[in-house]
Amino acid sequence: MYLLSDIIKTLENIAPLELAEKWDNVGLMIGSTSQEINKVLCALDINEEVIEEAIQNNAECIITHHPLFFKPIHQIDFETPKGRLIKKLICSNISVYAMHTNYDSVHGGINDLLCDKIGIVNTRVLHPTYIENVYKIAVYVPESHWEVVRQALVDHNICSIGHYKGCTFTSQGEGTFIPLEGSMPYLGETGRLEHVEERKIECVIREKNIRTVLDTIKQVHPYEEPAFDIYKLENMSKISGFGRYGQLEQELSIESFIIRLKKIFGLSYVRVTPFKNQTVKHIAICSGSGAEFIKSASKVAELYITGDLKFHEAQEACALGLTVIDIGHYASEHSAMKSLAAQMSAQLTGLEISCSQVDGETIKIQ
Ligand SMILES: [Zn+2]
Repeated sequence: MYLLSDIIKTLENIAPLELAEKWDNVGLMIGSTSQEINKVLCALDINEEVIEEAIQNNAECIITHHPLFFKPIHQIDFETPKGRLIKKLICSNISVYAMHTNYDSVHGGINDLLCDKIGIVNTRVLHPTYIENVYKIAVYVPESHWEVVRQALVDHNICSIGHYKGCTFTSQGEGTFIPLEGSMPYLGETGRLEHVEERKIECVIREKNIRTVLDTIKQVHPYEEPAFDIYKLENMSKISGFGRYGQLEQELSIESFIIRLKKIFGLSYVRVTPFKNQTVKHIAICSGSGAEFIKSASKVAELYITGDLKFHEAQEACALGLTVIDIGHYASEHSAMKSLAAQMSAQLTGLEISCSQVDGETIKIQ
């Protein structure tokens, strides 16, 4: 059993809220963070069928990609479709949490999962929206306390690199200082030069954790004035944003690539604009409705995969010499909910997580 707040913490670690677009609405839609949760249902959207599925599965929480509320609501009229959903969710004590553009943009989110699925490598962000700076901190600690300080940094889960946590480096040296009048030194005497065996502990930290790191050091460091340096790293800033671009390991004919794409996404058809080249290697992709990035895609790829392509957008792509494959909004996003369920399972042991079987494609081909 988990509290909803535990689950939210995990979700916001996977896709931080600050990565969401300003126009978006992500996070807790309905519910109480103190609610006890045993079962979770992941779905692309909320509708009557999905709520019914959650009730049948005894799921106390539904995690969606598309937010239940996009715009502020001024009344909850039970006669409207939205009002009925809200009533049913509250009466069934089911909470709802949405991770939308933050999950599109984040490293390891929907667009990276799509690249992995298709086999696009050496990927970069197509439309950057957020750059997070990364820093290195070096703190100088006497021999007697270096392990305590290092452990405190590790325990706060703030020194991570990629898929590794608890990443620190220590080196030994000698520190010197002269305590001045009015000081309360942990070691040494006022006015006398002190030599101390010290260790320098270094670790990489995210910009948002700087305050926590400094507070942690001050809590466990024995010195009245702990010495530390913080400097910005030029090689590790994290760029997040919409879409990705990269290459296939091997150039393929457009025809064989389309066959492969349909197989991967279980599609009977895709919509394709005319192609200039007969082969493809450089590919851009954006989940959901990514037509607004056609121009950016044309600069870095010969082929662009997205959903919801309109007539005039297809014409724009043609004029730019870019082939667009529309795999559909649903196909471009729904498999990501399975990956999210797997990520949550790995981090929330014992929590029952299932993926909706009824949040399918709304548009059918007759
Ligand atoms: Zn979408």
